[in-house]
Order: sequence, then C-alpha cells, then structure tokens
Amino acid sequence: MRIAVVFPELLGTYGDGGNALALSWRARARGLPVTVEEVSLDSPFPDADLYLLGGGEDGPQRLATDRLAAASFRERVANGAGVVAVCAGFQIIGTQFSVEGDESYPGLGLIPAVTVRGTPRAVGDIALRVGSKFLVGFENHGGRTSLGEGLEPLGQVVKGVGNDGRVDGARAPRVWATYAHGPVLAQNPWWCDEILAEMYGHSLEPLASVADRLYDARVAALVS
Ligand code: GLN
Repeated sequence: MRIAVVFPELLGTYGDGGNALALSWRARARGLPVTVEEVSLDSPFPDADLYLLGGGEDGPQRLATDRLAAASFRERVANGAGVVAVCAGFQIIGTQFSVEGDESYPGLGLIPAVTVRGTPRAVGDIALRVGSKFLVGFENHGGRTSLGEGLEPLGQVVKGVGNDGRVDGARAPRVWATYAHGPVLAQNPWWCDEILAEMYGHSLEPLASVADRLYDARVAALVS
C-alpha cells in the first residue's frame, strides 16, 4: 500500500503526520508491504492508495483546498483511493466550510458535509463510541459540521464536541474522517488496524503493543 501524507507543511500543525507512522509500523509488523511519501506543495501529486490529510490553521487550510482542487486528488479517490481526514482535512473533503470569520469556502465535495463557524472553539479531550469500541483523542477547532443525508458519522460523542456535540466525523467506504488529533491512529491502535484491514482487503493478526496499554489508560481516564 502506498500512503501519501498530503501537504504536511500546511496540514501538519497538530502532529497528524504520526498517523502515517502508526499505519506503516502496524502494517510492517504483519509483513504487509507499505510505503510512505510526503507530498509537498512543490512535488507532483502522487498516485497513492491512501491519502492522509491532517489538521491545519485557517489560511493554510484554504491554500491546501485550492491545491487539492487543482490536483488529481478527487479523480484518484473516485478511482478507489482511500482518505483519512482529520479536522481541517475533514472540513476540506466536505462540500463547504467557513474559515476566517464567516466567509464560506467550497470544499472538495468528496462527502456531503458542511462546516460553519461555532463558538466557543472546541478545545480539549474527545472520546467517541464507534460500534462497541471507544475512540479517543484531542480536538481543537472552531468549525461545527453537519452531515448530509445518507452520510454516517464516525461515532457518537461521549466527551468533547466533535461535529456538533452529538456525533463526530464521517464514515464512508474507504473514507475515515474525524476531529480527533493525537495522532489519532497512534492513540487508537484498533482503529488503525480497521483501516489497514479495509485497505488490504483482509483481517489482520492481532498485534499487542505498548500503544494498547496507553489506549486502555486513556479510555479509563476519559470514559467513566
Ligand atoms: N481551521 C479549522 C477550524 O478551526 C481546523 C482546525 C484544525 O485542523 N485543528 O475549525
């Protein structure tokens, strides 16, 4: 699997590049082939199997959107590439978002999600229920996001704000979106493995790591 970390100079403010490390480490530990490429603004947009979009500040978020709109990103996703999108990345792949005041800006339209400004800014720990599991992380965003009809959220918020205080993120085939930083895939090894399983097309051998112990401690601290 070829993983592309998209524009880390714009969407790397919150350490979400660590999601690529978590995915590649857990894939290699099972003997699965994986490469990781960082896509800078100057590099040609690569053909990848999974694109990772992280969080960023408002101005860089707009620039990243413009560059992705002009690149072959949408076409590659339409042809089956996967996307893990965190915070600004999540807003970017939606249909519309507001940054820098209330000015609204067209997103890439990969999923029907609209983000408006909200107050107060959502800053702090976040925990969601995703099926029978919890997903934990940290959020820091001004946007509030509504999902269009037919688009499932990633999970139900049990701590924090997420999209709107009730649900967080979005989930569609080969699309995983959340407001959780962490990096989220390092903090939630089970979710990292779910993404790998869908991308490789088969389930994976269990893998015990120190990340599982840290995850258990985080869940115990956030979810009573
Ligand atoms: N700029 C966006 C917001 O404030 C995204 C922030 C982020 O990626 N953490 O809503």
